[in-house]
Amino acid sequence: MKGFLSGIGEFGSIDHIKSMCGRPGRGAVGIGDDAAVFNASPGMSTLVTTDMLVEGVHFDLAYTSFEELGYKSAAVNLSDIAAMGGRPRFYLVSAALRPQMRLEELEGLYRGLESACRPFGVRLIGGDTTSSFGSSSGSPSGSSAGGSTGPLVLSVTIIGEAYPGRAVKRTGAKVGDDIYVTGSLGDSACGLFILKARGNDGLSKDEARLASRHLAPSPRIKAGRLLGEGRLASAMIDISDGLSSDLGHILEQSGGGAVVYKDMLPISGELVHIAGIKKAVQYALHGGEDYELLFTARPSHRKKIAALQEEAGISFTAIGKVTAEYGAVLVDEKGQGRALRPSGYEHFRK
Ligand code: ADP
Ligand code: MG
Repeated sequence: MKGFLSGIGEFGSIDHIKSMCGRPGRGAVGIGDDAAVFNASPGMSTLVTTDMLVEGVHFDLAYTSFEELGYKSAAVNLSDIAAMGGRPRFYLVSAALRPQMRLEELEGLYRGLESACRPFGVRLIGGDTTSSFGSSSGSPSGSSAGGSTGPLVLSVTIIGEAYPGRAVKRTGAKVGDDIYVTGSLGDSACGLFILKARGNDGLSKDEARLASRHLAPSPRIKAGRLLGEGRLASAMIDISDGLSSDLGHILEQSGGGAVVYKDMLPISGELVHIAGIKKAVQYALHGGEDYELLFTARPSHRKKIAALQEEAGISFTAIGKVTAEYGAVLVDEKGQGRALRPSGYEHFRK
C-alpha cells in the first residue's frame, strides 16, 4: 500500500496491520476488541516477556530495514522464551510511530515481525499505537522538545507456556555443573562494528554473515525447549549483554563462581577471518546480542545433551564449569587464570 500513516490515521493503520497478520485462531480474540483473549493450554504455566527497542539506542535505520527491525524485535523476545525453556504462542506490539512513516515501512515492520513469529506458530493478538512526536505544549507523550518528531519506539510482548516446574530459571546452577553455550559467540558484536563503520552495502561474504547475525539473530527456541522439557538444564539465560555479563547474571542468582576455558569458546571461522583470533575472543567474551543460550547442566547429563544437538538444530559447546569460588575466571591455553569481569552492555552506565 502507498501513502503515509498520517493519511489513514491510527485506526486505519491498525486495520491494515490486522489485514496483514490475520486472525489468531484457536478460539482466540485478536485485534479489534478491548482486550485479547486466548485459551491457555490445560495444565500449562504461562510465560510473559516484553522488550522495548528505541531508535538511536537499540537500532539505527541508516543500516536497518523496517523488515529487519520487525524481525529482530520479535526475535529478541522469542529468545527470552527460549531461555526459559518455553514454547511461544502469541505476541503483542506497542509502537510509537511517526505520522510521516510510509505505509510500505509499516508493512515491512509487520512482515519482519511475522517472519520471526510464524515459523514458531506465534500469532499477533494485539498491541497499541501512538504517534511519536514531542511538542513543547505538552503532547501526551511530551518527550522531545519543539514539536519535532520523536524516535521510533517498539515494544513487543510474547506470551508462551511451559510445563509447570519446567521453566528454566537463572537460579538453578550448582557447583560442578558444566557450562554450555549454543552456536557461536561474538559474531553479532563484530557484525555491529562493521555495520556502524561501513553500512550494509558492499560487504564481503564473511562480513555480511556477521552483519546478518546482528540484524537477524535466530532465537534458539527448539534448543531451549528440549533442554527445559527434558529437565537437562539447571539454569539458563540468553546471551543478550555478552557472555561475561550473562554468565555473571547466572552466578549472581545461583551463587558460586565459574571457570571458562578460552580455547573452548565456540568462535566462527568468519569471525576469526575478519577480526583475527585475539579480537574474536574479546567479541566472544564481551560482545552482546548473539542471542545464543548459555546454560548449566549436571555432568551426568553430558551424553543426553550431546545427543540433543541434532534435534535442536544447533551445537552445544561445553566452555567451563561452575565452581565454589566467588566470581568467574578465564583460563588461557597455558592454564593461566585471570578474572573474567562482566563488561557487556549496561544501560545508564557511561
Ligand atoms: P483501546 O483504546 O481499547 O486500547 P486501541 O484503539 O488501542 O484500543 O486498539 C484497538 C485494537 O487494536 C486492540 O485490539 C489492540 O490490541 C489492537 N492494536 C492497536 N495497536 C496495535 C498494533 N500496533 N499492533 C497490533 N495490534 C494493535
Ligand atoms: Mg490502546
